[in-house]
Amino acid sequence: MKTTLRTDITVKDICDGFVYNELEGKGLFGLSGKLTIQPEYQRNYIYADGKKDVAVVESLLKGYPLGLIYFVKVSEDNLEVLDGQQRITSFGRYVTDKFAVKDENGMEQYFRGIAADKQAKILDAQLLIYECEGTESEIKEWFKTINIAGVPLNDQELLNSVYSGPFVTLAKAEFSNSQNANTQKWSAYIRGSVNRQDFLERALDWVSKGNIGDYMSRHRYDTDIKELKTYFNSVIDWVSGVFIDVEKEMRGLEWGRLYEEHHHKPYNPAKISAELRKLYADPYVSNKKGIFEYLLGGSVDTKLLTVRVFDEATKKSVYAKQTAQAKAKGVSNCPLCALGHDANQSKIWKLNEMDADHVTAWSKGGATDRANCQMLCKTHNQAKGNR
Ligand SMILES: [Zn+2]
Repeated sequence: MKTTLRTDITVKDICDGFVYNELEGKGLFGLSGKLTIQPEYQRNYIYADGKKDVAVVESLLKGYPLGLIYFVKVSEDNLEVLDGQQRITSFGRYVTDKFAVKDENGMEQYFRGIAADKQAKILDAQLLIYECEGTESEIKEWFKTINIAGVPLNDQELLNSVYSGPFVTLAKAEFSNSQNANTQKWSAYIRGSVNRQDFLERALDWVSKGNIGDYMSRHRYDTDIKELKTYFNSVIDWVSGVFIDVEKEMRGLEWGRLYEEHHHKPYNPAKISAELRKLYADPYVSNKKGIFEYLLGGSVDTKLLTVRVFDEATKKSVYAKQTAQAKAKGVSNCPLCALGHDANQSKIWKLNEMDADHVTAWSKGGATDRANCQMLCKTHNQAKGNR
C-alpha cells in the first residue's frame, strides 16, 4: 500500500462543493466533487450534538490541529474519506451555515456573521491528510487498525465496510434508517440503536444463524434483500404473536434462536399470557428474562428462571434441627441416608457436606422457605435434582 502525506489541502478546498444531506444525516461530497465524504461503509454523522461539532470549529478558530485525516485514492479523480468524515462534515456544515457557534461574548454566530479574519482563519486552515492507495483488502485491514480515535467502529460497522456494495446499501436503507416507522415496534425486541447498526446486525444474525460475515460475503452483490427482510419479519411476527404482552425483559433476547427452536409448535397466546403474568408475580423467580424461553419450552426447565435459593440462615437452622433429631435417634442427619442400609445409615454429615433441597419442588408450588427446606448429603441432593 502506498501512502502520501498531504499538507496543501485547506478547509476551503474541502468545502468547495460541500453537500450535506439533512434527511440522511450525511455529509456527501466536497473538494470540487472529487471527494466522497461518506462512503457506504461509514456511519451516519453523529457529531451533530452541539458539542463535538462545535469543538471542531473552535479548534480551527484557535489554530489547533484537527488530527490526521485519511483519504483513499479510488481513481485519479476520486477520493473517499476513510477516517475524518465526522470532522469534515462538522466544518462543512458550519461553513455552509447549518449551525451556529457561541462567540467570546456568548452570542450564537453563524459562519456568515463572524469577522472576515475569523472566516479566513477557518477557511485557510491546512489539514494533515494521508492519501492511501492499495487493494481493497489492504485498505480495509488498515482501516481496522487506524480507527482507534473518536468513536471506534463496532463489529457491524466494520463488516459494512468490508462487504460494502449494493446489498449493504439496501440493508441499511431498511434496518439502519431512523425514518423507518417499524423501528418502534422492533425496539420492543431488539436492544441498541438504529444508527449504530444494531438492528441490521440482529437481522443478519438471525437469517445467517450467527454467521454474519459469511452471509454478507455471499450476498454482497445481491440487488435485493428479500430473504433478509422476510426472515426478520417472520421472527418479529412470531414473537409478537405468541407473546401478546410486551415486557422490557424481552429486549435483546435471542429471538432468532428461540424462533428456530420453537416456531413449529402451536401456542395459545391467552394461556401463555396468563402463565407469564403468574411468573412475573412470583417472588421466587429471579430471572425474568428466562420466563419467555421457559414458557416456549413447555414450562419444564426451571433452571431458566433461576428460582431463588435458600439463604444461609435458613440452611443453618434447618441443619441444626435436623442434626439434633438424627443424633437423638442414632441415624444419619441426611434423611435419605438414614433410610439406607450401608455405613452412611448413621453418618452425621457436616454442614458443608450437605445441600438444601425443596421438599415440595418449586415447580409444584413448593415455597423457598424454612418449612419446605430439608438438608440432604450432596450425593442424595444431586440424585434428587437429576430425577
Ligand atoms: Zn444422603
